[in-house]
Amino acid sequence: MMIEHPGFVLWMTGLSGAGKTTLALALEKELRARGVRLERLDGDTVREGLTRDLGFSKEDRDKNIERVSFVAKLLSRNHVAVIASFISPYAAMREFVRKETTNFLEVYVDAPLEECERRDVKGWYAKARAGQVKNFTGIDDPYEAPENAEIHIRTDLYSIDECVAQILESLEERQFIPAVTA
Ligand code: ADP
Repeated sequence: MMIEHPGFVLWMTGLSGAGKTTLALALEKELRARGVRLERLDGDTVREGLTRDLGFSKEDRDKNIERVSFVAKLLSRNHVAVIASFISPYAAMREFVRKETTNFLEVYVDAPLEECERRDVKGWYAKARAGQVKNFTGIDDPYEAPENAEIHIRTDLYSIDECVAQILESLEERQFIPAVTA
């Protein structure tokens, strides 16, 4: 059974390898089990479809987020929850999404660069260090860390399950989803 909710956007921002996709997938599973109507938008898949014409210059990164914002706006205003996982390194673009969408929550998925580099999930950091990939966020491209994120998650200090629980708790506190009583 689906539940009613006001529509919201969980905007996961953070360095590559910080855990955005991992947490988004786990949250999708849990929220679906609770009957929350949602759509997950992920940087990697969106770049294969909606924004495959774009690269990684500042201009293209901004365009990427602008288009995603448009989709998130349509969904969130129609009471579809959005779980978005994008590096989204520029604070101004995250503020743009905040203004465009309904019940925007910035989730700072935070792990130190050294930890992300140690994980090197897709081998990108090694390539960036070797100069085989240019404009890589955290190496030779900026990441503007959120200063007032609604939710700040340290994935180097807490397990995946703990991080998911912290985010769910925050959604319950805001009454975006019903609290689950044991
Ligand atoms: P991103 O989407 O931010 O690039 P990924 O989710 O692809 O990052 O990769 C994060 C990696 O870190 C995964 O291998 C995941 O298993 C690991 N990891 C360890 N602890 C956590 C945690 N608490 N939350 C999320 N990911 C974690």
